[in-house]
Amino acid sequence: MPSLQDTVAVAAAAADFWAASSAATRARLLEGLAAALEGARETLVPLADRESALGPARLNGELDRTAFQLRAFAARVGDAFAFVDDPAVPGAPPAGHPHLRRVRVPLGPVAMFSASNFPFAFSVLGGDSASALAAGCAVVVKGHPGHPALTRATVELAQGVLAAQGLPRGVFGLVEGGVPEGVALVQHPDIAAVAFTGSVKGGLALQAAAQARARPIPFYGELGSVNPIVALPAAVQAKGAELGAALAASVTLGCGQFCTSPGVVIVFEGAQAFTEALQQALAAAQPHAMLNPGMRANFDAGVARVSSVPGVQVLLQSPRAVEATNAAPRPFLARTSAATFCAQPALHDEVFGPAALLVDVKNTDEAVQVLRAVGGSLTVTLWGAEDGSADARRLLRVAQQVAGRVLFTGVPTGVAVCAAQQHGGPFPSSTQPMSTSVGLAALDRFLRPVALQDAPAWALG
Ligand code: NAP
Repeated sequence: MPSLQDTVAVAAAAADFWAASSAATRARLLEGLAAALEGARETLVPLADRESALGPARLNGELDRTAFQLRAFAARVGDAFAFVDDPAVPGAPPAGHPHLRRVRVPLGPVAMFSASNFPFAFSVLGGDSASALAAGCAVVVKGHPGHPALTRATVELAQGVLAAQGLPRGVFGLVEGGVPEGVALVQHPDIAAVAFTGSVKGGLALQAAAQARARPIPFYGELGSVNPIVALPAAVQAKGAELGAALAASVTLGCGQFCTSPGVVIVFEGAQAFTEALQQALAAAQPHAMLNPGMRANFDAGVARVSSVPGVQVLLQSPRAVEATNAAPRPFLARTSAATFCAQPALHDEVFGPAALLVDVKNTDEAVQVLRAVGGSLTVTLWGAEDGSADARRLLRVAQQVAGRVLFTGVPTGVAVCAAQQHGGPFPSSTQPMSTSVGLAALDRFLRPVALQDAPAWALG
């Protein structure tokens, strides 16, 4: 393996070439990467399964999604070249002005921190890499130690595609190691931006490293999120049992190891059918093992934190003491009041895993207070807001202040990859809530605007 210094040096040497590459060249690379990924499915999926325990069905689906993302960016690579033109206007300013063209230029080499919970879709060739490459930025992956063999195999695959297309290997590199290597990568003077998915603690440490540089750089961190569900009476009275079962499936999907897993459920009086169905379905659920013992230890610590808050009633809990280190956890469900939730910051943090907290509210005022206490989330789901009542409109206003995506039906797990998607909300869900890490607008993160004033024809391309 080349050293970190060599890997970044090679990326820096390829940066100008890739920034100047045409839309057709970028699209060809992204298409080639998608096809290579699909072609290596039989090797990569078993490798991913051995390292993550996520199972072939989920991993095949994730590989499909990753290839779809690469192709989606290939089809929209032209967005990186879009510009705004203001022809010259004769006369005195402010009405009169020279010709201005606002273009966007690639930032330069991007350090991409793979996530442990998505070994394909948020790892080596995931959305961060696809969007950075489409924007014209070379990528240096910091591999996640949770799936090192898969990481190496995927990087090798990407290097093979670059070689086959006659492109410099510096367009896509890999750095392995732990915390010191991650910090050194972020602080390397040739790195121009960072994309990160993972814990709040790790994200904040790396963001601090990015900010401590002589020339601070953008840090796009996707961190923790509790994804509140507001179950309004209209919804739970009409189909409480159905919604309870659907929510349990979402809480336990992938053993709860999704950034969009619903962790807080706001319920009004009269929601017994819903909460009973939720509790029954969670009690019967059999999630698979978590990604690694460290993840399980974090889950147990989160459950202990929530359980120890006075005023929290535990409804379902894993019999941890008798389990092996990395046994599949049983789902956790607890209940509390709006007043306790709002007063206890320990309840506002994500418990990564199959866990949910019911928060009882008496009215819309309390529901609003609970949402405001959450502060920042990738999603808020409003069930039963179809009537457009004053309460529904008020909840929507607050939900939009708190989250990047507001759902009116369904569950927040499952994030569509399309142009209108927004996967990023106020802190702690994201460090840059104006941007998204999923969907085609993810490309905007890696482009910087430049206004060309009275430029000659050659400079306008
Ligand atoms: P993580 O601990 O945040 O690690 C992600 C990456 O950041 C790894 O490459 C890690 O490096 C690096 N890193 C972590 N702390 C660092 C520090 N202080 N300085 C420099 N680099 C640092 O995430 P994880 O390993 O995937 O999972 C741990 C916990 O994060 C989970 O239990 C869960 O609570 C949370 N998580 C949340 C999400 C989400 O979507 N919200 C996703 C995944 C994980 P090394 O491991 O090589 O040291």
